[in-house]
Amino acid sequence: MPAQIDSRRCNRCGRCAQYCPGDIIHPVGGEVVVLYPGECWGCGTCVLECRTGAVTVSLFGAPQAAPAPSRKQATA
Ligand code: SF4
Ligand code: SF4
Repeated sequence: MPAQIDSRRCNRCGRCAQYCPGDIIHPVGGEVVVLYPGECWGCGTCVLECRTGAVTVSLFGAPQAAPAPSRKQATA
């Protein structure tokens, strides 16, 4: 999952935006947001630079069930 910012903990200091190597985080309308989440590769720089713990990054996302085998695979 891409970086996510908890606006309740964010003090709008801009450090995450300043240090993101992908230029993915930007100030918008008084908030600091992950403007291009599809381009985030989860490097964690924003998490390390945030001093209020407002940013989280999950490399693996939500657990997902393994796909069920197809009928052909099950009988092979
Ligand atoms: S995890 Fe890395 S690439 Fe993604 S928003 Fe944070 S600093 Fe940018
Ligand atoms: S570094 Fe943390 S507190 Fe500062 S703008 Fe980014 S999310 Fe908000």
